Amino acid sequence: MSSRDAGGDGPPVPDLIPDRPTLKTVRDAASDCRACDLYKRGTQTVFGEGPRRAEVMMVGEQPGDAEDLAGHPFVGPAGHLLDRALEQAGIDRSLVYVTNVVKHFKWEPRGKRRIHAKPNSAEITACRPWLETEIALVKPRILVCLGATAAQALLGRAFKVSQQRGRFVESDLAPLVTATVHPSSILRARDDDTRRMEMKRFVGDLAKVAARIRGSKDPTD
Ligand code: SF4
Repeated sequence: MSSRDAGGDGPPVPDLIPDRPTLKTVRDAASDCRACDLYKRGTQTVFGEGPRRAEVMMVGEQPGDAEDLAGHPFVGPAGHLLDRALEQAGIDRSLVYVTNVVKHFKWEPRGKRRIHAKPNSAEITACRPWLETEIALVKPRILVCLGATAAQALLGRAFKVSQQRGRFVESDLAPLVTATVHPSSILRARDDDTRRMEMKRFVGDLAKVAARIRGSKDPTD
């Protein structure tokens, strides 16, 4: 499926990226993006945020309801859970650049609520050059995919987060690349015990990232 299958009525993303991009100019350019139909559904483009030379980049699927309204990534319930997990894992949140593979919120109405809908591969393909530009500019030493959509978009469709989470894999994207679950999956756990267990596993995966930040290899890796 090509990015042209994603609809949209504006130029494709590569045509919008400035010749000598900086995070600021790319963010500004993305704010007017109409390269796929998702711009009609979301309130605004939600671009990545964090230090220009962040050591760690975390990539999720797409902004959620709260992010769509606020215009900032990972500021809703899943973002708060990520903040807690980073703290427990010993990762300084201010070192981390957070972003998503798709920059507009895709949702379906359910009563008065806007329910998350998974972006399709054409939408992911259409939006991907924004993420590629973020990676090229930030040059993170460690890249962490959060959830299956990000992992399969960046590491290939055969990647299975359930089986390969927490491991570092070969990739051209960054010197160290790994994947774990998306924090929203922990919020959706069926009961408190499962949620606690999943949070523990999530923090365990992030602790391996923390060990790499400290420059020591986790012996359980
Ligand atoms: S989802 Fe991405 S490609 Fe589609 S309109 Fe938004 S920024 Fe552009």
